Amino acid sequence: MTEFKIAVIPGDGIGVEVMEEALKVLSVLEEHEQNFVLHKENFEWSSDYYLERGRMMPEDGLVTLQSYDAILFGAIGDARVPDEITIWELIMPIRKQFQQYVNFRPVKSLPGITSPLSNGDDIDFVIFRENAEGEYSNSGGRMFETQHSEMAIQNTIMTTAGIERIVKAACEYAEKNGKKKVTSATKSNAIIHSMKLWDEHVKRIVKNEYQDLALESIYIDALVAYFVQRPQSFEVVVASNLFGDILSDLGSGIVGGLGLSPSANINPEKQFPSMFEPVHGSAPDIAGKGIANPIAQIWSAALMLDHLGRADLSAKIINAIELVLLEGKIKTADIGGNATTEQMGSAISAKIIEQYAIKENEESKIWT
Ligand code: ATP
Repeated sequence: MTEFKIAVIPGDGIGVEVMEEALKVLSVLEEHEQNFVLHKENFEWSSDYYLERGRMMPEDGLVTLQSYDAILFGAIGDARVPDEITIWELIMPIRKQFQQYVNFRPVKSLPGITSPLSNGDDIDFVIFRENAEGEYSNSGGRMFETQHSEMAIQNTIMTTAGIERIVKAACEYAEKNGKKKVTSATKSNAIIHSMKLWDEHVKRIVKNEYQDLALESIYIDALVAYFVQRPQSFEVVVASNLFGDILSDLGSGIVGGLGLSPSANINPEKQFPSMFEPVHGSAPDIAGKGIANPIAQIWSAALMLDHLGRADLSAKIINAIELVLLEGKIKTADIGGNATTEQMGSAISAKIIEQYAIKENEESKIWT
């Protein structure tokens, strides 16, 4: 029996709408798999929750979450609440407290989806973004506010331990998945302290511990151009928090947009729960209309199952997504159609059910 405790946080805007479809897909798997149970609990931590109670989550929110095997997250962001609050009082504490130092983002061209690049086929690489330190730190401050002499200091925190663990995670993934090359995003010619430390450790780790992997180190400004010019040449890209964030959105742009891009915030040691969420935000412009693409959220649920040791079920979901896109009958507006969020979720669920039916049919043929 595989049983997992899942904390579900739909959040704001389209997060709530796309989460419903991801839960639908997970329920289909539960119905068809023997010995597979997900104990899902819904947490209404959102901007509405903040406006009612003055905090994004209860005081013991992190303690509560710690007892779960994984967190499935929707999206957060609302014009009524400053981003510093939604991000720094909900997402960042979860990522940092639970040592989710790997932000994993697959970038893969999908059937039936036209890339804005003329050479956008057969793109298939992953980004390992450092997720716990780097440029996204709350170290710093402001002085002399409202005066012309006002100043702001924003510190980047790079540590040997922090760099080492993200680089190792990327290299381990590369080795396990038969990849030959790791690409490191850098800018050590201009950011001469923190990025030099990054470069030194990346080089040392790959040279000493992963001799079968080739390493290319590319300045971020050139790397963004190469993402457009030769995206097929990448296999595993490892980057700091800021660079990885930007590269990931660019990555999703070149394979069809935010509605198709999942991500995982992983604590590889499994000492704490990992969190799975779409790359997109709450998309206030389309929230409430029922037209958001739920694929990024559904694919994030697939990454969650993979992390929990059910790569077989993860593959079933991804296969179903690809079959629906290949058929091309159901498409949401962001990918050139007019289907609703619900119709896309149902189409993917139906493809999963079909896969089970085909399997049962094959099995019954063997026995008759
Ligand atoms: P936030 O402040 O929460 O990040 P945002 O609107 O700034 O919200 P996103 O939510 O990432 O940023 O959305 C950027 C654009 O992409 C929006 O125009 C939105 O409508 C579109 N978009 C994002 N996610 C989806 C989706 N799942 N389906 C369709 N369109 C999407």
